[in-house]
Amino acid sequence: MPAVVFTADARIALQDRPRPTLRPDQVLVEVDLCGICGSDLHASQLPQVYRGDCILGHESTGRIAAVGAEVADWAIGQRVAVNPNGNVDGTCVYCRSGRPNFCRQATLETALGLQADGALAPLMAAFPGHLRQIPDELGTVEAAWVEPTATALRAVELAGDIAGRTVLVTGGGPIGQLACRLAHLRSPAQILLMEPAAQRAEFATDSHAVPIAAEDNGGLAVDVVLECSGSAAATSTALKLLAPAGILVVVGAGPDPGLDSATILLKEITVRGSYIYTDEFDRAIDLLATQQIAVADLTTVVSPLADALTAFDALRAGQIMKALIAPGTRPQRPSHTQKGMRI
Ligand SMILES: [Zn+2]
Repeated sequence: MPAVVFTADARIALQDRPRPTLRPDQVLVEVDLCGICGSDLHASQLPQVYRGDCILGHESTGRIAAVGAEVADWAIGQRVAVNPNGNVDGTCVYCRSGRPNFCRQATLETALGLQADGALAPLMAAFPGHLRQIPDELGTVEAAWVEPTATALRAVELAGDIAGRTVLVTGGGPIGQLACRLAHLRSPAQILLMEPAAQRAEFATDSHAVPIAAEDNGGLAVDVVLECSGSAAATSTALKLLAPAGILVVVGAGPDPGLDSATILLKEITVRGSYIYTDEFDRAIDLLATQQIAVADLTTVVSPLADALTAFDALRAGQIMKALIAPGTRPQRPSHTQKGMRI
């Protein structure tokens, strides 16, 4: 079967891979849609979590196509959102203390699309812990957004009570836009969005945010920053703009931190990392199913698997917000110039 692979020599390539075989303790998921994540673009810079020679894709939804003999509670045809970090052991010190986002098995050994073959392929093997049944009212596009929504939800919640406060979001990619939209549900005084790329900054209004530039913010003092860019420059600007006793939540990962210890000390800034999600995954399903969070407008393109590398290029160039890949869709014939279906 065709698949988008993070190769052993750290390239992203379209390859022919064997179809997964059904283990007794797993199910096979027929993938309907899988988003390309910003971290997939930089997989080679994240060797802590991305194993080489592995099919990418960790933002997926699909239907159960086969059920292993030892698997209870799942049936062929059920629609699922896939929690790529969901295969917790349930016994380690982190699982037992309510922090399964640090469970080694779940996040560093069997995470789908990171260390185990993921969803940028027509079929994917998954453990029952990876599966979340989704309600009929959750659309397929929305189901593909559950994973990034969960990531943004944790970051917003780690900022504490933001009602009446001024919130700055740095980075206007999908996680930044979701952070704005989720923050808006908590009645902040104002949401500001700092995003240098015009094509992404123009989403600010629809995300209930006021766009600001890094250079025109003299005198601004914000209570909370949600750092979604991974950019050292953005982090450095965020520290300057934070009021004393402000909170910086770091959800974007970059090679260089931009964290100035003197500023953190002099203003008593609280810096909090936000790493994937725990029960936020299940709550994200509810937020999307009840349409409290909109994502259709953030979905730039839905492409067949054959066009996935074109989508990677467009994302790297910052030309589009989000690409979803439909691995079951046949590629367009060459006579069609259209690269994907705009929705
Ligand atoms: Zn565990």
